[in-house]
Amino acid sequence: MTLAILGGKPARKESFPDWPVFSSEEETLLLKALRGGNWGGYGAEIRRFEERFQRMHEVKHAISCANGTVALEVALRSVGVRCGDEVIVTPFSFIASASAILLCHAIPVFADIDPKTLNISPSAIEPVITPRTKAIVVVHFGGHPADMDAIVPLARKYGLAIVEDCAHAHGARWRGTAVGNFGDAGTFSFQGYKLVTSGEGGVIVANDSNVAERAWSYCNQGRRREGGWYEHYSLGSNYRLTAFQAAVLCTQLERLSEQTATRAGNAAYFRSLLRKFNGIETAEPSEHVESNPHYLVILRYDPGAFSGISREVFLEAVRAEGIPVSTVYPYPLYSNPLFEREKLEQAACAASASLPDYSALHLEECERICREGLWFDHQMLLGDKRDMEDIVEAFQKVQENSSILAKHQEELKAALRRG
Ligand SMILES: *Cc1c(COP(=O)(O)O)cnc(C)c1O
Repeated sequence: MTLAILGGKPARKESFPDWPVFSSEEETLLLKALRGGNWGGYGAEIRRFEERFQRMHEVKHAISCANGTVALEVALRSVGVRCGDEVIVTPFSFIASASAILLCHAIPVFADIDPKTLNISPSAIEPVITPRTKAIVVVHFGGHPADMDAIVPLARKYGLAIVEDCAHAHGARWRGTAVGNFGDAGTFSFQGYKLVTSGEGGVIVANDSNVAERAWSYCNQGRRREGGWYEHYSLGSNYRLTAFQAAVLCTQLERLSEQTATRAGNAAYFRSLLRKFNGIETAEPSEHVESNPHYLVILRYDPGAFSGISREVFLEAVRAEGIPVSTVYPYPLYSNPLFEREKLEQAACAASASLPDYSALHLEECERICREGLWFDHQMLLGDKRDMEDIVEAFQKVQENSSILAKHQEELKAALRRG
C-alpha cells in the first residue's frame, strides 16, 4: 500500500479522542459559581476543591494557585530556597522546572536522566551536590514517578529539600504513596493539556504546616490565614485561582481515576504490541509504580530499522497516516537561549559571579532522548485497543515502505525545512 505521504490512502481516518473532556456537570458547577457571586480566590469552591485534592493525594495541605509555574516558585521559596542557592534539576522537562529556580534568584544545576524512566537519575545527583546546594526539584516525568527510594535518602544525607514537580503526574503513586508526599512540597499544574485542567491553574501540596502557611501567604500578598485583610507579613503576590476554575476542577478531579485506568489498560496493550515490533522502543514501567496516569507515552526511534530514514521524515510519514505523534522536547533545558550568560546575569542577581557555564554542559542521556525520542499525548490512550493497533499498524506500514522513503529522503527533508 502506498504511503499517505507519497499520495496513498492514510492508514487511519478517524480522529483520536479529544481533550479536554467535560460534560453538563462542569456546566452546572460553573453556573453555580457564577450565581454564587463570590468569583475570586476566596470563594467556597476554592476550599471545596483544595479539600478534594488533599484527600485524593492523601496530603495534609493543598494551596491552589494561578498555574504550575507559580506553584513551583512558591514551593521553592516556601522550603527556603534563597538568592544564590543551588537547586538540582533534570534537563529533560518543561522550562518551568528550571525557570522557577531562576525566578527565586537561585541557580539551576542540571543532573542527567535515567535512560529508562527519563526521570532525573539518582546516581547523577550526588556528584553535583556542593556546599551551596539547597534543594532538588524532582519531576515525575510523563506520569512515571521518579525513584524516590533513592532520592529521599540522598536528600536527607545532605540536608536538601525536595520539591516534587508533579505537573505530569496527577494521582501517580510510588510504592503505595501518592506523589507530592515524598518531598517537602509538591506542585501540580491544571493548564489546558494537563491531566486535570481548568485551562490554567495550579496547586502546592505539603505535609508540613509551616511550609503550607508560607506558601499560602506568598500566594495571598503576604497575608496570614488568621490575619486581617490589610495585614501583610511577607513579600507575596496575588497568585490566586478563581472560583470558576475551582468549580471546573472539582469535576475534572472526579474523572481522573477512571481515565487513569483506561489509559493504563491501553498503554499496557500498546507496550505488548511494541514488544513484537522492531525499531520503536518504549520502556517498561518500574515495578514500584503503583499508578501512572500516562501523561505522555515516550518512544525511541531507531532509524536502523527503517532503512536509515531520519526521525523527522519518519514522523511526517506517520502523521500523514493519521497518527498524531510528535518529537519530544527539542533540546535539553540548558540549551535554551535563556541559559546564555548575559541573560542569566540579569536573572540571577547576586549569584552572577558563580554561574555555571551552561554552554559547556553535555548530559549524554538527555541529549540522546532529545535526538531519538517521539511521544504522543495522554488523550490518545482514552479510546480502545483498536486505536493502539492502528498506531502500530501505521508504524509497520512506514517500515515496510521505508526503502522507498529513503530514496525520497532528501526531497522530503527539503520540503520539511520549507514547512
Ligand atoms: C506544564 C508544566 C509546568 C508548568 O505548569 P503551567 O501551569 O503551565 O505554568 C511545570 N512543570 C512541568 C513539567 C510541566 O509540564
